[in-house]
Amino acid sequence: MDSILPQSIRLPESARLNPSENYADVMETITTTDGRTVYVSREEGDRGSKGPFFVVYSDEEFQDRFGYVCGHCERVDNAMDSMGRIECNVCGNVRKPTEWDAAHE
Ligand SMILES: [Zn+2]
Repeated sequence: MDSILPQSIRLPESARLNPSENYADVMETITTTDGRTVYVSREEGDRGSKGPFFVVYSDEEFQDRFGYVCGHCERVDNAMDSMGRIECNVCGNVRKPTEWDAAHE
């Protein structure tokens, strides 16, 4: 059985043409406040005060990181400061800086 591959292995181009056989989930997209379509990676993210923040990419191969989508209200409308704190402008969901989060859970 070789069905479990390390995440670092990229699928060959031919495999991507057959997404139903290689992807457990359908590629999820979301539209940003300025009308861009971005791609949500539900496997990458951080916990926030109201819900998780997931990483979004501007391309479907997850090469070009765009930012975060709020998992609470599903909007891509948030700000990150230099400390790594992310705050959703829509619902107020907040991700605290990483080191703070780890020390207090
Ligand atoms: Zn939100």
